Amino acid sequence: MSLDARRLVLATANQHKLTELTRILAAGRVRVVLASLADFPGAPDVAETGATFAENALVKAHAVAAFTGLLAVADDSGICVDALNGMPGVLSARWSGRHGDDAANLRLLLDQLGDVPDERRGAQFVCAAALVHPDGREQVSVGELRGRLIRDRRGSHGFGYDPIFVPDGDQRTTAEMSPDEKDAISHRGQALGGLALMIAALAD
Ligand code: IMP
Repeated sequence: MSLDARRLVLATANQHKLTELTRILAAGRVRVVLASLADFPGAPDVAETGATFAENALVKAHAVAAFTGLLAVADDSGICVDALNGMPGVLSARWSGRHGDDAANLRLLLDQLGDVPDERRGAQFVCAAALVHPDGREQVSVGELRGRLIRDRRGSHGFGYDPIFVPDGDQRTTAEMSPDEKDAISHRGQALGGLALMIAALAD
C-alpha cells in the first residue's frame, strides 16, 4: 500500500460519524489516518439525488476522492417500510419535508401507519458504505437490519426512527439499546464492518 493509500477521508463533517468509523476500523485493527471534510475547506457538498442508498454513497465518495486525491468513504442510510413499498428509503432524512427534523419525520411515519395492523408493520434499516479510490475505482458494502415498527416511542438512545424500531429477535427498540449493542447488529455497523475488511485488504 502506498503512503497516500493509508490516508482516508470520510465524506462528512459529522463528528459522530467520524468517531463511529474510527471505532470500527480500530476494532478491525485497520491502521489508517482518518480525516473528515472539516479538514478540507471548500470540499463539495454533494446533493443526495440518487434513487438508491448505494448511488448516494458513491456520488459523495467520488466527489470527495476527486477533490482530495485520497481514498474516500461515504455512507447513506435510511428506513424502508414494507407497508409503504420501501419508502421513505433514500428520503428518510427529509420525509416530513424538513431535512434532518427527526421528530417530525417519525411523527409523520407513525401517522401514516396508524391503520396498518401489527402483522404488516415490517421494516428494515439499510446502509450503503462506498469506498472510492483517487483513480475512480469503487467498492460498496451494504448492511441491513430487519425488524418491525411499534405504535409508541420507547427509549432515549440513538436518533431518527430508533424509538419505534424493534429488530427481529428482540423486544427492545434500537433506542433502548446501548450504542455498543446497536453497533453490533446495525445496518451501519455491518456496512462499515464490510468496508473495514475492504480497506484492510488494500493493505495486504
Ligand atoms: P443519512 O445521514 O443521509 O444517512 O440519513 C439517514 C436518515 O435515515 C436519518 O436521518 C434517519 O432518519 C434515518 N436513519 C438511518 N439510520 C438510522 C438509525 O440507525 N436509526 C434511526 N434512524 C436512522
